[in-house]
Amino acid sequence: MGLKKLILLIFLAGLGGSLSAQQAQFQVDATGTDATIDSAISYSLDILSQYLFSTIPIKVKINYTPMTQLGPLGITFPNGIKDFPNAPEPGTWYPTCLANAINGTELNPNQSDMDVFLNSDLTWYFGTDSNPAPNEHDFVTVLLHEICHGLGFLSLAKVEQGLGSFGELTAVDFAPLSPSFPFPDQMGLPSAFDLFLVNDSIKVLTDTGIFQNPSTALMSEFTGNQVYYNGPFGVAANQSDMPKVEAPQVFLLGSSMTHLDENAYPAGDIDALMTPSSAPGEVNHSPGPIVLGMLKDIGWPDAEDTTTFVGAEWGIESLSVYPNPFQSRITTRFHLTRAQPVKITVLNPFGQVEEVWSDEIRHPGLHTLYFNTGDLGKGCYILQVTGSDFQITRKLIKVAD
Ligand SMILES: [Zn+2]
Repeated sequence: MGLKKLILLIFLAGLGGSLSAQQAQFQVDATGTDATIDSAISYSLDILSQYLFSTIPIKVKINYTPMTQLGPLGITFPNGIKDFPNAPEPGTWYPTCLANAINGTELNPNQSDMDVFLNSDLTWYFGTDSNPAPNEHDFVTVLLHEICHGLGFLSLAKVEQGLGSFGELTAVDFAPLSPSFPFPDQMGLPSAFDLFLVNDSIKVLTDTGIFQNPSTALMSEFTGNQVYYNGPFGVAANQSDMPKVEAPQVFLLGSSMTHLDENAYPAGDIDALMTPSSAPGEVNHSPGPIVLGMLKDIGWPDAEDTTTFVGAEWGIESLSVYPNPFQSRITTRFHLTRAQPVKITVLNPFGQVEEVWSDEIRHPGLHTLYFNTGDLGKGCYILQVTGSDFQITRKLIKVAD
């Protein structure tokens, strides 16, 4: 573990380790659509591509199919994977498209990343100009909503026989619909999104030391109308308040826990896309700041400067620094394989130290740190992350506000 190895690591990372310089591309396999619908699909996916970085295409299967007049607008089955190499958290379900983005390799060859069913019995508006008639459902809005579920805005919460649970969903719960990939045995494990769900006392719902899984206590939380999302980026995007999650008195599978609260984010709100209901005429062609924050929280790379290292023996597995160029704040996010002292230094082009943060990090795992950089002038800076046996250097650019 000498200097040589460290240099090699940085060199390798520079050559092949960058995951996110590339905006994600979608690969669509659509059934039951026509040219007009297909162009609405392309338009929708182009909106999301801007926010997602992955070298592996996101494979989406779209089924435009009758689901009876009274059925839902759409249903999405995300393909899931857990404990993959570089997974941000162990024992947690991640959407395969996110796992692929983090990992830089395709972990689910020959399987789609998500199957989206859209109800062809309804009256749709397929235009892309946000101008549906009052009786028409805006197809782009609904498709964006469904794809965001497939990207990871998804809870595995369920209530059955008076017990609330995470990770107990089975294929039977969604029959007669079924995905094209095998429905995994969820093994009582939560999704990456579930990890951030808390009650009004900020008790983490997936903490089995507090809430047994399954339990009546979890059911009370799922139906208590007091569930919040406490991931740092999602909260930051909600003016530092925890976004409220849909958890009405009657648990409704596919609606409760897996959406933003309908009343907190009514139609027309910038964050209304991921509420459970979408009325005819309702239009939202942007995921909104909260959803984008949540996607970051669960691990979506969002900046050009994201690297995952292959050799975990150096004590660090991944480092993201973003945004770059930056304005008033830099975030560093890194995954340590063991506890150790870590120092982060921002140097100016003359090698003078501008900012230092250092601490003994007492537990391995994912860590996120922010720097306020309002007092730095615009120009080039060097950011160094130093551990007991590694040092990683990044070039950053500060632009005018
Ligand atoms: Zn939904």
